[in-house]
Amino acid sequence: MIDFKESVSNRFIRYTQFDTMSDDSLVGKVRPTTPGQMILLKQLKKELEELGLETYLGKEAVLMGTLKGNTSAKTIGFMAHVDTANDVMGNGVKAQRHVYRGGDIKLDNGTVIKESENRDLELYMGEEVITSDGSTLLGSDDKAGVAEIMEALTYIKAHPEVPHGDIEVFFTPDEETGSGMDAFPFDRKKSVCCYTIDGGREGEIESECFNAASIEVVVHGVSTHLGSARGKLVNAVTVASHIVTSLPQSESPEATDGRYGYYCVLGFEGNQAKAKLDIFIRDFDSKCFDERIENVERVVRSIEALYHAKIDINKSVTYRNMAIANSKLPEATKSIMEAGEALGIEIYESIIRGGTDGARLAEEGTPCPNIFTGGHNLHSLEEWIGVPAMSKSVNLIIEIARWWASK
Ligand SMILES: [Zn+2]
Repeated sequence: MIDFKESVSNRFIRYTQFDTMSDDSLVGKVRPTTPGQMILLKQLKKELEELGLETYLGKEAVLMGTLKGNTSAKTIGFMAHVDTANDVMGNGVKAQRHVYRGGDIKLDNGTVIKESENRDLELYMGEEVITSDGSTLLGSDDKAGVAEIMEALTYIKAHPEVPHGDIEVFFTPDEETGSGMDAFPFDRKKSVCCYTIDGGREGEIESECFNAASIEVVVHGVSTHLGSARGKLVNAVTVASHIVTSLPQSESPEATDGRYGYYCVLGFEGNQAKAKLDIFIRDFDSKCFDERIENVERVVRSIEALYHAKIDINKSVTYRNMAIANSKLPEATKSIMEAGEALGIEIYESIIRGGTDGARLAEEGTPCPNIFTGGHNLHSLEEWIGVPAMSKSVNLIIEIARWWASK
């Protein structure tokens, strides 16, 4: 295995200095939602061009680069997002390096990364881990992914003896706001298989995520003067409340884990004349997923009949379980497993109780499993990343390119 610890950690820390926290409230208004993301995308474009890659950065705000192959192997792609979450402050990051010697890691501002809650720190005894100064997140989600891809490309470019086909890279904005893939340049993509470098713990990969739908329910009531409402008023708030309480609370996000799906009412607004509900449906299994959608419709229609209300239902599928696309091209997962084996990295699969940008690519027919970056406690002040894990991720990317060239 090649030692990238020094180079990938320096690169990562350099990228953390760009303020790229995204902003949900600006989705649909500006793209990317914050200007810092475009500044980093332009910087990455420059770096890709210095490496000799062809690049494209258009109105989609997705940076694409192509490294020409030295074999006729199939084209594959790697993807990472440049924005960081806004759950805690994501700008003004001051990354700190620590050689881990056991015990808690105490940061400024009273932030403590407790050994008892971070058993994985043990993996990095005597090695370097990186944190923020405790006042912001670190941004390994997903600047570690960006740095790992850039590092792998730099190596491949400098070592023409590494056999590979064309390699595409995609750096996307606004993953955290869920809008990054809304304007993805699908027509430019040639990859038969893509990999997001946007996971966590070393060795962990994910090739399965939820099927996701959102259902908007609009209840139209009949409003009257409350003094003479008997037998006439149809209170939209009452009707909507009945729908909420009719959904099984035992199948909510707070009551489920593992492979169990759920219903979740995420928005409720209204008055006696009109009320609106936003309902999220999540399930790994496609059949159960469809049944959940039908269940909501059935509940809504029976309550509509009960109250003599008029109710509109608008449903939309947000993303599909990427396992469906991934299973059509077994090489997607096989390549990671075998590359890991060749390097002596223990790879294990887990499932995502959410979605990824890769799920949107998978929906378009391009399998897109997710690979670890090495980051932990993402989206929090206690975020940290093990430098050896970052080096492993770079090695894995290079080995996957080699794997495809050997087929
Ligand atoms: Zn991410």
